[in-house]
Amino acid sequence: MKIRKFVLGVYQENAYLISDESTKESIVIDPGENPAQILEVIKSEKLVVKYILNTHAHIDHVLGVNAVKEATNAPFYLNENDIPLLNALPKQAEMLGLNGNYEVPEVDGNIAEGDQFSLASSKIEVLFTPGHSPGSVTFSMDDMIFSGDVLFAGSVGRVDLPGGSWEILRTSINDKLFPLDRDTVVYSGHGAETTIGKEIDTNPFLQPGFEF
Ligand SMILES: [Zn+2]
Repeated sequence: MKIRKFVLGVYQENAYLISDESTKESIVIDPGENPAQILEVIKSEKLVVKYILNTHAHIDHVLGVNAVKEATNAPFYLNENDIPLLNALPKQAEMLGLNGNYEVPEVDGNIAEGDQFSLASSKIEVLFTPGHSPGSVTFSMDDMIFSGDVLFAGSVGRVDLPGGSWEILRTSINDKLFPLDRDTVVYSGHGAETTIGKEIDTNPFLQPGFEF
């Protein structure tokens, strides 16, 4: 399985293209602003995008959804608790002082805890990990997770945005992510990769007794 990361837009959001080299099946996770580079790879390698999977609906993670949908006809999946955020895309833009025509992408399916998607011989499992947003999910696949803005290398997602909660975020990380194998590679929504073991040992926000 080939994992490619694209850093998109002013918020330096990480979008991921996961593809199977023999079957050409692929998925796109969190296509942010101007996903032209992703579309170029899809086109040049003749990849077949099966799904567009979003970890959550903050503006920096969804601005490229419509372009990828149009180019690939792949269905777009999002947890239903983030639909209000998605529908508030123009409002999110306004709050950030962004000007433009932010058309809200149409959701083709809900994703919830335990849902599974197949990609060639691999399975992608959905872990419900709210706290950064009410509908944040993490995608688990082989020995990797795609954690969106739930967990970063040395940090955690903001909890001061609408619908955010430190208590809920901490519980999500403790109950869903930290029990994973320590060698699990964490691909986050911003910044560098890390592992579960490294974050358990060194993430300052997640040490016992830490409180905001
Ligand atoms: Zn976010």
